[in-house]
Amino acid sequence: MTASARLLIVGPQGSGKGTQGVRIAESYGIPVVSTGDIFRANIKAGTPLGQQVTAILDKGDLVPDELTSEIVRDRLSQDDAAHGFLLDGYPRNTAQVAHLDAFLSGRGESLDAVILLDVPRDESMERLRLRASEQGRSDDTEDAIAHRLDIYERETAPILEAYGDKNIVDRIDGVGSLDEITERIVAALDARGLRVAV
Ligand code: AMP
Repeated sequence: MTASARLLIVGPQGSGKGTQGVRIAESYGIPVVSTGDIFRANIKAGTPLGQQVTAILDKGDLVPDELTSEIVRDRLSQDDAAHGFLLDGYPRNTAQVAHLDAFLSGRGESLDAVILLDVPRDESMERLRLRASEQGRSDDTEDAIAHRLDIYERETAPILEAYGDKNIVDRIDGVGSLDEITERIVAALDARGLRVAV
């Protein structure tokens, strides 16, 4: 049986979103499509796209919506995404939600579920502080961490509102062991009739 699941994972930095995204994508046999990873890979490889977006990523600004959406459309048009995908980092604002929805509905598809990894702000701050001290990153100050969480909350609220209206948001408690959290996500997706690949 081929699993089919069109997913978006959302969560603050320090929520374990990247790790859980990979685990869930593996379970469902679908590719992770992370816009941040795509941009970073292009920067590393020195492609024209990479050159175009280097300064934007350096500043922490958003890459223009149309360019980002075009990259996602190209990626989702590849064969391995025909039966599903897990988006990470896109859509990031309501314009991108509209771009994605238009693209998917053109294929007769829509997102099946939005996984919201819920980690209390204090817990995210603590995890990021710990990571910063382990990695010795002097730029990861208390203020910078708080700022990133502010941006996340500002960016995410309208996206959750848009998808909440469609009743596809699964709010998952993101505090616990890696396995526990994966199990919670799988249980929520299972309840939607989305079955893991066998
Ligand atoms: P991330 O790894 O998701 O934090 O993304 C790293 C950077 O890539 C962001 O700070 C943006 O500059 C850019 N980026 C990633 N996803 C998007 C998106 N959906 N829209 C615009 N820019 C993005």
